[in-house]
Amino acid sequence: MADSSTLNEKSTRRVFVETFGCQMNKADSENMLGLLSEIGYEHTLDSKEADLLILNTCAIREGAEDKVFSYLGAWGKQKRKRPEMMIAVGGCVAQEKGASILTRMPYIDVVFGTHNLHRLPDLVLKARSEKTSVVEIVQELPEDLPELPVIRQSDFSAWVSVIYGCDYNCTYCIVPYVRGREKSRTAEVIEKEIEELTQAGYLEVTLLGQNVTAYGHDLDPKIHLGDLIRRLEKFEKLKRIRFLTGHPRDLQDGIIDAVHEVESACEYFHIPIQAGNDRTLRRMARGYQVDFYKRLIEKVRNKIPEASITSDLIVGFPGETEQEFMDTVNLVEEIQFDACNTAAYSPRPHTHSAAWADQLPEHEKYERLRFLNSVVGEVSHRINRRYVGRREEVLVEGESQRDETRLSGRTRTNKIVNFEGDKSLKGKLVDVEIQSANPWALRGSLCSSVVPAK
Ligand code: SF4
Repeated sequence: MADSSTLNEKSTRRVFVETFGCQMNKADSENMLGLLSEIGYEHTLDSKEADLLILNTCAIREGAEDKVFSYLGAWGKQKRKRPEMMIAVGGCVAQEKGASILTRMPYIDVVFGTHNLHRLPDLVLKARSEKTSVVEIVQELPEDLPELPVIRQSDFSAWVSVIYGCDYNCTYCIVPYVRGREKSRTAEVIEKEIEELTQAGYLEVTLLGQNVTAYGHDLDPKIHLGDLIRRLEKFEKLKRIRFLTGHPRDLQDGIIDAVHEVESACEYFHIPIQAGNDRTLRRMARGYQVDFYKRLIEKVRNKIPEASITSDLIVGFPGETEQEFMDTVNLVEEIQFDACNTAAYSPRPHTHSAAWADQLPEHEKYERLRFLNSVVGEVSHRINRRYVGRREEVLVEGESQRDETRLSGRTRTNKIVNFEGDKSLKGKLVDVEIQSANPWALRGSLCSSVVPAK
């Protein structure tokens, strides 16, 4: 942690953080805000009044990486007008590119990686006092994971990282390169954090990991995610437990059983399959076949018939034939996914498949993506229509992004529900009667408030 004696003249400074990518990155950004508050930085949502701009980056797709450099370019122009303003870059692109970012953008003040978040205050203070660029990238998390301060962006729903990194080596994925090997936080530390959250009135936690379903295998004694969910059952004020995202091979029976038996565990499973064809799965090095996945889904549905199941799908993987692509499309129909995150394959540095010769042309990948999305949308719409007429418990997240006159929240099964209501309901659990559905959301009318948030 930073030495407070190094705090200088200006007592309050402002920090603006832009976050790209997954929920793990969002959780990291909340830790960055917590760490920087300890050296006098207040969070601002207005980049123009910020003394420090931080970009927390994502390297998962080429498009996301391009966006990083266009943001940093725009911030560079701002810095020309306000040279005292500092710019820091963290996250997966920073971990991967390190000091080379400065060759392209020498005005960046701090480059830090995914394994040394806790060092951010010291790095900022060093760059500030020495008026020089500071780069610090390390290859592994510290042996003893430091507990980091946090400033959360919600006061009713919290991200809680429980495991970092990923031990798989999928041939398309840069995550193991930038996030390292799996490392779990202890159950005691997680429990303590969640106890504090419930005392502060939080109703929902989402347990996070690049491979959250592998939680605890590296602890001594070993535990699994189902055990952790059961340990959280004692917090009566905690109404919803979710977890994101995992690998199908690690979704043990014990996790499914815990979701079934623990009342606060939501009936929602995000289980990435990536492709619906065995040859493609083998080339992706996913370590399972389509049949294994189908049996897993059957297990979940036998135990929890009302569970919603979502997935991730990649189309246009190198060498994917038209028929192999159609296997993925047909699987969406067969499994009846509630929703899918879909993406056209994007070759990433440091991955095996990026070097393969049989890359598909961009137009082919995007045509496949368009077709897949239309099928995913039809299936989602069909499933969402089944909600019409039902009464659903909704955790109100705030104003709807598409229509500010409405509120928006989520069901236990993670369906977005839009409805009319007073803004004071934000952060509360309410009952909503569902009246209509589209592929992405439900619309309904408010019945009654069931649980006060605080
Ligand atoms: S399991 Fe997920 S995070 Fe890990 S390498 Fe495969 S795709 Fe990447």
